[in-house]
Amino acid sequence: MHEVIILGSGPAGYTAAIYAARGGRHPLLVAGSTAAGGELMNTSEVENFPGFPDGIGGPALVTRMRAQAERFGARIIYDDVVDLAITETAKTVTLGSGQKHEASALIYATGSAPRPLGLAAERRLTGAGVSFCATCDGFFHRGRTVAVVGGGDSAVEEATFLAKFAARVYLIHRRTQLRASAIMQDRARGTANITFLPETEVVDIIGDSTVRALALRNGATGRQTHLAVDAVFIAIGHEPRTHLVQGKLDLAADGTIAVDGRSSRTSAPGVFAAGDVIDPTYRQAITAAASGATAALDAERYLTATTDPQRSTTTAPSASPAPEVPPVTGGAAAGDSLSRTTSTTWDEDVLDAPGAVLVDFWAPWCGTCTALTPLLEELQRTHGHRIRVTKVDVQAHPDLALRYRVTSLPSVKFFVDGDLRGSINGAITRSALDEAVTSHFG
Ligand SMILES: Cc1cc2nc3c(=O)[nH]c(=O)nc-3n(C[C@H](O)[C@H](O)[C@H](O)COP(=O)(O)OP(=O)(O)OC[C@H]3O[C@@H](n4cnc5c(N)ncnc54)[C@H](O)[C@@H]3O)c2cc1C
Repeated sequence: MHEVIILGSGPAGYTAAIYAARGGRHPLLVAGSTAAGGELMNTSEVENFPGFPDGIGGPALVTRMRAQAERFGARIIYDDVVDLAITETAKTVTLGSGQKHEASALIYATGSAPRPLGLAAERRLTGAGVSFCATCDGFFHRGRTVAVVGGGDSAVEEATFLAKFAARVYLIHRRTQLRASAIMQDRARGTANITFLPETEVVDIIGDSTVRALALRNGATGRQTHLAVDAVFIAIGHEPRTHLVQGKLDLAADGTIAVDGRSSRTSAPGVFAAGDVIDPTYRQAITAAASGATAALDAERYLTATTDPQRSTTTAPSASPAPEVPPVTGGAAAGDSLSRTTSTTWDEDVLDAPGAVLVDFWAPWCGTCTALTPLLEELQRTHGHRIRVTKVDVQAHPDLALRYRVTSLPSVKFFVDGDLRGSINGAITRSALDEAVTSHFG
C-alpha cells in the first residue's frame, strides 16, 4: 500500500511528485508510456517558464522536473493506467502490464489529448498521413502538399511551421475569421505558401493506405469539393483525459474534473486532480505545475488527517545527490543504451542479421521518441537474448525513412531474418508494443 500514487508525468504530475517526495510520502508516479513527459515533449522551445531567461526545450524542462522528483525518492513507472478503482480507503490502479498498485491517496494529472475530427478514416490513417503533431512529422513532407485543420493559435503555428518544409499548406477552418491571435495570423498571412480556406469543413479523409485527398464542404454554399493533399494535421483543440474517471468523479460542464473551489479536492475523498485535466482556461506549464503543488499539499493534509494524525507535515527526507541531467539544449533520445544503425550498416545490422530485430525510427526533435526509449531499453534488457533493438535517426538517414515509408514518428518496425513482418507508428502505448512484439516475434 503506497501513501500516494500520482498519474501523469507532465508539469502537474512531476511537481506533485517533488512536493510529495520532499514531504516524505514516497510517491509512486505512473508516467504513461509514449505520452510520458506530457505535452511539453513535443514543444521545441518554452520561453515563458520562469527561471530560464534564454528559454528551454520542452523535453529538457520535463527531464529536469523528473530528476528533481527522483532526487527526493519518487519512484517512476513508464506504463499506462488502464483501470482505476476508488473506495474511501483505497485507490487501486491497474497498469497496462497487468500490475496493480494501491494507495491511500491519488493525484490525477493526466492532462489533455488532441481532439479528433471524429471521422472514420482518421483513426485508420493516423500515422499514415493523418497527424496531430507538426513538429514531429513535418519533416517527412518536404516539397509536398499538406493541410492543417483548425483556426486557433496551435493551427496557425503548425501551418507556419509546416510552410518551411511543404510546397503548399492549406489552412482549413470552419469560421469566416480565425480565432488565432493577431500576431500569429500576421505571420501566417505573410507566408507565401500558406493558402487560407475559411468557412470550410473537412467531411472525409480519402486514401487506402495513405492520405490522398480531403472531402471538403463550403459552409456558405454547401458545395462539396475534393482537395488533393499528402497529409493532414489536425489542430482543433484538446480534450481533458478523463476516460478513467467517467462515472467515478464528478465532471464540470466543460468536461474537466470538478474540484472544490481553488483546491484540488475532487468529489471522491482522497482523490485530487491537477493540471490541464481540471483547467479549461489557462493551460500553461506554470499553471499546471502550480496546480500539482496544490494537489500534493491537499493530499498531504488528507493523509495526515486520515492515516497518521501524529505525523508532522514538515518531515522532509534528505535529498540524494541530483541524478545526472542531460544538457538543457540536449536532443531527444541522446545517451541511451541502444545500438544505432546507419545507411551504411543497415544490411549487416538488419537485413542480413539472423533472428528478431526491432528497428526504432526516431529523430532528435521527436519528444514521443524520447518517451519510447525507456520501454525499448527495458525490452532489450528482458529479451536481449532473442531480440535486438536498434535505432535509426531519420534526420541523418532519410534514405532509410524513405525506403521504409516512414511518415510519422516514432515508427517501430519488426524484422525476422531480414524480412519486414510489421510495424506500429505514432503514440505507441506499452501494451501495443508488448502485443506487437508477441505477434511478430512470438
Ligand atoms: C504544442 C504545444 C506547445 C505548448 N507550449 C507551451 C509553452 O511554451 N509554455 C507553456 O507554459 N505551456 C505550453 N503548452 C501547454 C503545456 O504543455 C500544458 O499546459 C502542460 O503540459 C499541462 O501539464 P499537465 O501536467 O497538466 O499535462 P500534460 O503535460 O499533458 O501531461 C499529462 C501526463 O499524463 C500522462 N497520462 C495520461 N494518461 C495516462 C494514463 N492512463 N496512465 C498514466 N499516465 C497517463 C501522460 O503520459 C502525461 O505524462 C504547450 C502545449 C502544446 C500542445
